[in-house]
Order: sequence, then structure tokens, then C-alpha cells
Amino acid sequence: MHSPKRTARPVARELLFGNLWEYDAAPESSPAFIDASYGLFIGGKWVAPKTRKTFYSISPRNEEKLSEIALAGAADVDAAYQAAAKAFPAWSKLPGSERAKYLFRIARLLQDRAREFAVAETLDGGKPIKESRDFDLPMAAAHFFYHAGWADKLNYVTPGRVLEPLGVVGQVIPWNFPLLMLAWKLAPALATGNTVVIKPAETTSITALKFASILQDAGLPPGVINIVTGAGDTGAAVVNHPLAAKIAFTGSTAVGKSIQRALAGTGKRLTLELGGKAANIVFEDAPIDQAVEGIINGIFFNQGHVCCAGSRLLVQESIANQVLSKLKIRMKSLRTGDPLDKNTDVGAINSRAQLDRIHELVASGVAEGAELYQPVCELPHKGFYFPPTLFSKVSQSHRIARDEIFGPVLSILTFRTPEEAIEKANNTHYGLSAGVWTDKGSLILKMSNELKAGVVWANSYNKFDPSSPFGGYKESGFGREGGKQGLLDYAKLKATF
Ligand code: NAD
Repeated sequence: MHSPKRTARPVARELLFGNLWEYDAAPESSPAFIDASYGLFIGGKWVAPKTRKTFYSISPRNEEKLSEIALAGAADVDAAYQAAAKAFPAWSKLPGSERAKYLFRIARLLQDRAREFAVAETLDGGKPIKESRDFDLPMAAAHFFYHAGWADKLNYVTPGRVLEPLGVVGQVIPWNFPLLMLAWKLAPALATGNTVVIKPAETTSITALKFASILQDAGLPPGVINIVTGAGDTGAAVVNHPLAAKIAFTGSTAVGKSIQRALAGTGKRLTLELGGKAANIVFEDAPIDQAVEGIINGIFFNQGHVCCAGSRLLVQESIANQVLSKLKIRMKSLRTGDPLDKNTDVGAINSRAQLDRIHELVASGVAEGAELYQPVCELPHKGFYFPPTLFSKVSQSHRIARDEIFGPVLSILTFRTPEEAIEKANNTHYGLSAGVWTDKGSLILKMSNELKAGVVWANSYNKFDPSSPFGGYKESGFGREGGKQGLLDYAKLKATF
């Protein structure tokens, strides 16, 4: 197994790869305006945690402490729910056109401060600045714009019925798209007239806490959104609070299952957006170069910390060697390193724990007999990094073909017929997403009908839009976020006839 070099000073890439262009470092220089410490945002104000406990948010880029974050306990979570319950009657009775104004304001304020938030997201989470700048921030704003548009049209979502808010909603989100997951959750909840208690992931709380200042600038009434920080115990307190009318959770399947068990019989509504092990399927008539770009984007976007990542490549046997050699060439040109550098393609792994998990699963792939490829790569001296990795000669029983790695690791399997591709693609506990690459429209339709996945991309991958519902089957969860379907998960339906 190739072990990537860690160098204090970059080695000239020509020495490694021959006559390749080298880029100068291009670090993003905008300030992130991260406070030295943050309290809890409850009832429109910053409050100290009753626990008097804090923890540090560490940058995976260089392992430096970024900020001291309040650790909320059960009493703090209770205060957040009380504030949300107090805000609910007035907020839910506001005309939709008035609620829409707040959502529009939030969207515009996010746009105004997009660069600052992008830098903060990259420092805290490790994703390349070009992704937080060009994907996370514009998409987060787009979700608020989209749902602002729905707020005064809720009576037209489903014919003959009106949508009524549920009450106080508890939301728990993961670390891979911290601000975007927050936007996915908050925008539909607010548009439908609910109030919220939300908990970001413990390794990536900063953009959620900075977002509180956007809520203040937008003049959102106190208590409509409350932000509590902490780890699993805080999340459990959010989930189990008696005032919660609904829980919306995005995270791992293991935690999702425990939440489902805890809520059984309570009458609370629940949506779960969980893990995935998506098949990206390439047929022999596909446009190969575009498919190679789609495969690279499908697995290396956000270091593979993507629930819908195309982590299992299924390639038709007749073109497998060709695709493999093109992928290897393309992987050599990926730049792995400082996420704050504007040229970086693959940034830092979010935490040491996640890095350890990736190492463990990659070692299992080697031990089980798959063939590993990693391009020669200079990794920064400090921080959490893992090189883009590809496994060929993978069989369906290998752990790397079954378990969600949530890292920049692609497993390649082959197939001969569409039926074999469908059988292999569906041979997983998960069912979140899939990709199909082919020239034949009829084959796209057949595959998308028979693949058990919430999203099927055709001749593209990792494309998102607020109007397009996203969610899973099987152990990838239930409920949808985005589109009209996402609104329905935040509302009661009342017949008008
Ligand atoms: P995780 O389940 O460990 O944590 C997610 C959140 O739940 C965090 O805020 C965490 O503090 C909290 N939490 C932990 N234990 C809890 C408990 N017992 N009760 C309540 N809350 C608890 O997941 P993660 O490692 O942060 O995120 C990665 C996972 O999220 C991956 O499996 C990924 O596929 C999934 N994910 C899914 C989607 C989707 O839309 N389906 C999107 C993004 C991420």
C-alpha cells in the first residue's frame, strides 16, 4: 500500500510527475470573523450554558483551535424548547406573505456575507474553499429563496387541502454540509409556520452560530429559531424533549435507528436522512470522458463526505480497463491539500475520528484482496488528510463495497448486462442515490424504474436543486427534503371540502 508523503515544504510536482505545471499557493484571504467563544442562541439572545461546560471546535486543516463552543445540557435544551413554544402562536399565525419576507431577508443576508461564511465553513469543516464558495453558500441561500416563494402559497401545495404547521420542530444535523443542512432543515420549517430547536454537529458548529447573527439582522422574532450546541447527548435531549412535535434528523444510520426506537409510540413525526452506498453505473455506450468526470465528482466532491457519494462504480466489463486507466490519469491531476487554497480539489478530512475510520476501511480492502491505487500526493504536515483512493478487483462481499466509508475512496465492480447492474446496485442496505451513464434514453428509464434509490442521476452526478425532493429508501431513511414533498413533511393536512 502506498503511504502518501507528508512534507513540511512541498516537493516540486515536476520531480514527482514529470513536466507538469505547478500552481503557486492561492490562499483565500477573506476574514471568517469567527468569535473566540460562542454561547447558545435561545429566545433571540446569546446565553451561557447552564452546564457551564464548553468544548473546542478544531480546524481539520491544521488542528488549530478555532473557537470555544457551549455544551448544552438537558436544561439548556429545555429552555430552547420553551422559547420555541412561546414563539409558535404568533409565528404560525403570521400571514404567509409576512413569513416569506423574513425568509427572503435571510437569503439576501446570506448572499451578502457569502464569502465570510464560505471561509468559516472551510476552516471549520475542511472542505475546499471552491466548494464552500461555489456550492454550499449559493445552495443554502437558494433554499431560503425557494421556500420564501412557497410561504404564501401553501394552500396550493396539494389540491383541496391546506397545510398547517406542526408546532415546535427539533432538528439534528451532521458535519458534512453544516450550513447547507441547516438551510435544508430551517427553510421548509419556517415557511410552513413551525418554530425550531436545531443542533449542529459537534465538529462543525461555527457556521450555525454565525447564522444566528443573520437571524438577528433579519429581525426574526425571538424564539422562532433556537440553536443549541453539543454532541450526541445534546442531540438525544433535542430528540426526546416532550414539546417536540416532529424530529428531523440527518446523520448516520446507526443513530437514526436509535432515534426511531426512542420515538416509537410517542406520536411525534419523524424524518430520517441517513447514510448511503450509491452505485454509479457506466454502460459501454456512455460518453466515457464525461462519465469519468462524473465519477470523479461523484466520489471526491467534499472528500467523499457525501451521503449520496457514488462510492461504488459499476462499469460494464467491455470498457472497464479503459475507464480504469482514464480514472487513474484524472486522479493524478487532483490537488489534495490545504482546503483554503483556491486550487485545492480534495481538502481535509473532517475529524481525526473520521480519518481513523477511513484508514481502517481502506486497510480492510487491502486485506480482503482488492487492488489499491493512490496517486503520488503531497499531504500537508499538520491536519487530517487522506489521498484520493481507488480499489479495483472488488467483490460484493468486501467491506469496502458494503460499508459507507464517507471518505475519498472509490470501489470498482464490473457487470455484463443491465439486469446484473440492477441486481448489484440494489444489493445494499441503503437506497439513497444512484447514477446511470448511457446514450440510450430507454435504458435510463428502465434503470431509474428498477433502482431502489431516492435519487437517480442520468449522465450527471451530485446535482441538487431546492425544488427537487431528496431522500432515501431502506436504511437511508424516509421523508423528503426539498420540493413540495419536503413541505408536506413539516405540515398537517386539513381538508377544505
Ligand atoms: P452522526 O449520526 O454521528 O451525527 C449526526 C448528528 O447527530 C450530530 O449532530 C450528532 O451530534 C448527533 N447525534 C449523535 N448521537 C446522537 C443521539 N444518540 N441522538 C441524537 N443525536 C445524536 O452522523 P455524522 O457522522 O455526523 O454524519 C455522517 C452521516 O450522515 C453519514 O452516515 C451520512 O451518510 C449521513 N448524511 C445523510 C444525509 C442525507 O441526506 N441522507 C446527508 C448528510 C449526511
